[in-house]
This record gives sequence, C-alpha cells and structure tokens, in this order.
Amino acid sequence: MALRENTEIKRKSNLAVKSTYRNFPMVPRVVFGTGCFEQLGEILLPHRKNADAPMIYLVDDVFEGKDLPNRLPVIFSDQVIFIPADEEPKTGQVDALVEQIRSNHQEIPSGIIGIGGGTLLDLAKAVALLLTNKGSSSQYQGWDLVRKPAIYHVGIPTISGTGSEVSRTTVLNGPKQKLGINSDYTIFDQVLLDPNLSIGVPKDQWFFTGMDCFIHCVESLNGTFLNAFSQSYGEKAMDLCKEVFLGDLEAWESREKLMMASWHGGMSIAYSQVGIAHAMSYGLSYLLGIRHGLGNCLVFNQLDDYYPEGVQLFRKMLAKQKIQLPSGVCSNLTEDDFNTMIGVAMSMEPLWENALGPDWRRDITADILLEMYRKI
Ligand code: NAD
Ligand code: ZN
Repeated sequence: MALRENTEIKRKSNLAVKSTYRNFPMVPRVVFGTGCFEQLGEILLPHRKNADAPMIYLVDDVFEGKDLPNRLPVIFSDQVIFIPADEEPKTGQVDALVEQIRSNHQEIPSGIIGIGGGTLLDLAKAVALLLTNKGSSSQYQGWDLVRKPAIYHVGIPTISGTGSEVSRTTVLNGPKQKLGINSDYTIFDQVLLDPNLSIGVPKDQWFFTGMDCFIHCVESLNGTFLNAFSQSYGEKAMDLCKEVFLGDLEAWESREKLMMASWHGGMSIAYSQVGIAHAMSYGLSYLLGIRHGLGNCLVFNQLDDYYPEGVQLFRKMLAKQKIQLPSGVCSNLTEDDFNTMIGVAMSMEPLWENALGPDWRRDITADILLEMYRKI
C-alpha cells in the first residue's frame, strides 16, 4: 500500500479514538510591520513595575556594536545582555543567566525581551520561567511541569522560520537530553514582528532557518495528527514558503512573507507535531552540535520514501537558491556514535507517531535509521 494511503487510514483511526482535546494558549498580543521596533518603548511602558524592576534585553551578540542596541528603550535600571547564538541554548546557561539577573538587581525584573533567532527567543522564554520557578531549568524539561506563570516576556525575531515566536516550548540542551520546556506559561506575552530586523542575515542561514518552517509544514500536513486547525495554518505557511523560496519576490516582500510563514508554520505544529526530519535531526544536534535548521535539511534530503513530494520541492528550492548542503557529515562516526543518534531519534515517540501512526515501531528499525544517517 502506498505510504500516503497508509497515513490517511492511520489518521482516520487516530481521529476516531480522540475524545478530549487540548486547550491551547496563543500569543495574546502581536504587532507586525516594517519599523514597528520603534514602538517597543511604549509597548513595554505599562508593564514596568517600578524603577528598580528592570526590563532585561537578551540580544543576539551579532548586533553588538551595530545600530539596534542604540534603538532599545533602555531606562532606569534596564540591562542589555549580549549572548552569542553559536550554540543552541543549554539548561546550565539559562540557570547562570537567571543567577546573574538576580544578583545584579534588587527586584525581580519587570520583563525579559528576547531579540534574535530561535536561540535567543528560547533563552528569553526559559529565563522568564525560571525567574518565578525555583531550581534548575533542567527540572522542567518535559511536558507541563512548570508550576508558576513566567514574568512578562516579549519575543522579537530577527531571523524567520523556527516558529519559536508562537510556540509553547523552549528547546534546551540539558544534562540528559535535548528537550523542550513545554508549558502554557512558556508562550510569549507579546511578540513584535518587524521584517526589517532580518536584514543582514547570511544567505545560507536564511535558507536553513527558513527550511525549518518549510519542514514544519511538510511534517504537519503529512502527519497522522493533522486536523483542520493545523491544516489551515500549514497550508498557508506552505504557500508562503513556495513564494519566498521558488518565486522572485523583492527583498522586502520576501522578508515580510517569511516572517508570516514562520508564524503560521509554528501555529500549524501547535495542534499536531513535527515528524521524521525533526526526530533524526535531534540526534545530529545532540551528538555533533549541528544547528536545528541545517540538521533538518540534512535529514530531510534523505526522506524521499516518507515525504516524496516535499523532498522534491526541497531540492527545487536548494537549486533555485543555489545552496550547497554539506556532505560526509557522518562519514567518520563510530558505531557507538550512530547508536547514540539512533537512540535520541527513536526516543522522540510523539514525532514518530505523528509521522507513521501508533504502530510506527513496525515500520522503523535501528537499521533503517542507520542507513539514512550513513548517507548524511
Ligand atoms: P539561531 O537563533 O541559532 O541563529 C542562527 C544564526 O543567525 C546565528 O549566528 C545568529 O547570530 C544569526 N542571526 C540571527 N539574526 C540575524 C540578523 N538579523 N542578522 C545577522 N545574523 C543573524 O537560529 P534559528 O534557526 O532561528 O534558531 C535555532 C534554534 O531554535 C535552535 O536552538 C532550535 O532548537 C530552536 N527552535 C525552537 C523552536 C521552538 O518552538 N521553541 C522551534 C524550532 C527551533
Ligand atoms: Zn523545527
């Protein structure tokens, strides 16, 4: 039986057994538009508690010495902390930042503002949560373990694709695994979408982070968890990705559309899940530190059997944008290395279940994953 038909049947059987439905929060406030970054000061003002309760800006250090920090509405005891995005966020890093903020200020901050890509957005979410919840961030990796609401937190993306700006998770590398803090309290209180902030993103990075969004769409739209809610967002995000990566848009239009694609792609997976590329990419990230967007692309390029149409489209986008994927990434790995990656990938059960249905273990074996990893 063709995989697609198979997925269709599994999707129906999945739907038939559902009796309760998740009640999801959404970002309550969003401002969109070129130049809206200038409104940040007035947006933050009503949320300032007093002069000793600062706004803390966590800013990607790619902006250090540039114009952006001068445009931040820094007053009273506000603090700007520049953070490199070379590595994806870690639980230890979150704990250290929380400690630093606590010791630098007399009062708990009025708010945390994350400015950057998925790395900085996730750090901002996690720091906001850990300022009100005791202990280490690693204690909260998992589903719905957070007890208290976070402090006010704002997300300002400067590169588009991850959907972190709308998601209820912050993905952290912890002592045991790479896993999100999934919680209703993780969601940003405010998001500011200014397409001009993504001017200057290097082309390769633009493509890889953008493909994170495209892959969210493919995995959501072809998953067994799909419902009309996810589909409506996923299809819109997919159309926008096609315009951006296969069309000939003006630069400003491409920035605007990719920003909205990221938003819709993120909304699409809220009610479904990602799939095989993400499960296997977590393995690459855990063992080799390969970034999320690139890792997804490397895996997705091997998934012809699972997402045939998506992979064809992906290759067209690679060609149109003249992007060369690295090769031989797994060529010098040992058997233990492969086993580690396979273990991490296989532990992502909901992702496999979304991709292939509840009996996914019948279709996916360690040998199948090994063969795909070897080709990367
Ligand atoms: P990133 O934040 O890691 O940034 C990638 C690179 O782009 C960095 O070098 C950064 O400095 C640079 N950059 C960002 N904005 C720039 C700009 N305007 N000009 C020049 N350079 C700029 O990349 P990402 O792909 O957005 O995020 C990846 C992270 O997001 C991973 O940690 C992943 O786990 C996480 N993620 C989270 C979610 C979620 O729902 N929370 C979803 C997907 C991915
Ligand atoms: Zn992703």
